[in-house]
Amino acid sequence: AAGVAVPDLMKTLMGMGMMLNINADIDLETAELVATELGVDIELKASETLEDELITQIEEHEDEAESLVARAPIVTFLGHVDHGKTSLLDNLIGINVVKGEAGGITQHIRAYKVPKGDRAVTFVDTPGHEAFTEMRARGANVTDIAVLVVAADDGIMPQTEEAISHAKAANVPIVVALNKIDLEGVDANRVMTQLTEHQLTPSEWGGDVEVVRTSATTGEGMDELLETLLTIAELNEYSANPKRSALGVCLESEQHGDRGVVAKVVVQNGTLRVGDILVCGPAHGRVRAMKDTLTGKAIKEAGPSTPVSLFGLDKPPGAGDRFHVLSDITQAREIAGSRDDESSRQSLSGITTKVSFDNFQEMLEGGNLAPGEERVKLNLIIRADARGSLEAIDKELSKFDHPEVEIRVLQRSVGGITLADTTLASASGAVILGFNVIPGEQARVMADQRGVEIRRYDVIYKLTDDIRMMIEGRLKPEE
Ligand code: GDP
Repeated sequence: AAGVAVPDLMKTLMGMGMMLNINADIDLETAELVATELGVDIELKASETLEDELITQIEEHEDEAESLVARAPIVTFLGHVDHGKTSLLDNLIGINVVKGEAGGITQHIRAYKVPKGDRAVTFVDTPGHEAFTEMRARGANVTDIAVLVVAADDGIMPQTEEAISHAKAANVPIVVALNKIDLEGVDANRVMTQLTEHQLTPSEWGGDVEVVRTSATTGEGMDELLETLLTIAELNEYSANPKRSALGVCLESEQHGDRGVVAKVVVQNGTLRVGDILVCGPAHGRVRAMKDTLTGKAIKEAGPSTPVSLFGLDKPPGAGDRFHVLSDITQAREIAGSRDDESSRQSLSGITTKVSFDNFQEMLEGGNLAPGEERVKLNLIIRADARGSLEAIDKELSKFDHPEVEIRVLQRSVGGITLADTTLASASGAVILGFNVIPGEQARVMADQRGVEIRRYDVIYKLTDDIRMMIEGRLKPEE
């Protein structure tokens, strides 16, 4: 959320529930004001003044309309394991290229710009929806469009459901790749029905979700998938200014023996050049060389929506760290240094959003609404022991009809509370409700760190009573 204008921040805050990332380079006063008005608890660390000034300037610099040109959409694959995410990307880029590119570097996140005629689509392949949402929680929104991969023989599975929730919470357009369509006896209509049941009605059935039938094995539908993504990109007019100095996000990095630090970054705006002075999280340096991630060829410059392997940083930045180009290496060193100690690292990467039952009333009283929104959103993630319980809770929740509050269930699923749930709650400002289930150890630890509220129930009426009382502002703290 770094550098968003305050109205946008407010909009984001309200729109997403309550997302406020500590990377946000608004000044402390404003942050506090916004926080107070919205009743959000945030921890603020007075950051280096130099950093405030320079980085804020870069982030807030508004490109003039004339300077903007269309950029490639940045696309992420999400879906259940084994439904074909890896194979689809392999097919799109040609598997041989992958082998050539890796060059011995461990790759967790693959990122490639795939040309299509005179246009291109950039794919960022995160290892799952947790990673996708984790980046979002850290303010590193890199995805424009989510491709939901659903294997035609399997249909919608639990992880598909989670992926749908995560994509919806990110507010990005969803395209469905109905994969493995080559398999004999698969019933596309069955999956289309399931999609419809998950509020993803295919456009051929009168809805607004493009469903492309694909086969990573035969290559069927690959062209159509690229075309569909390009059409959505045109409609959304994704644009950037290639003439400004670059800024973007580090996807992953590694200390690599003889070559020093290799960082995989995506340029989001501007053009990154060899020789540029860079600060990225706690790292800084001069860009010594860059490689195209697809061809492995050395390149001198990289424009908007381009992923590159970058050499020249003094240490490996973290996934989700933003990078900026500065004019002075001393300043870059100073800013990187100020972020380098353990505590600032914590606050840079930590997400300290807090939406809770206790402060929801203040949010309501704050009454700040984004334009076009009439009610304050209460975002919930619900986990229960059985389908039946979920349905019963849904039924009860649907009875709430409050003029000022809209209850929005970001995710409902059977099973214990997971790390992914906590990440989603943290990125989207949601409260987690567990019905006859408990959070896993990791989920609990992260919830504590990030101020995510988890409430547990074993009786439905207690859950609904709490929500009612919270909305009316009479909630007693949980014992
Ligand atoms: P991921 O876990 O979603 O990344 O799935 P993978 O890409 O690893 O694919 C899982 C398995 O399904 C592999 O054995 C693939 O060869 C196979 N697979 C992927 N796409 C297709 C497809 O379109 N058709 C068929 N028949 N098999 C596929």
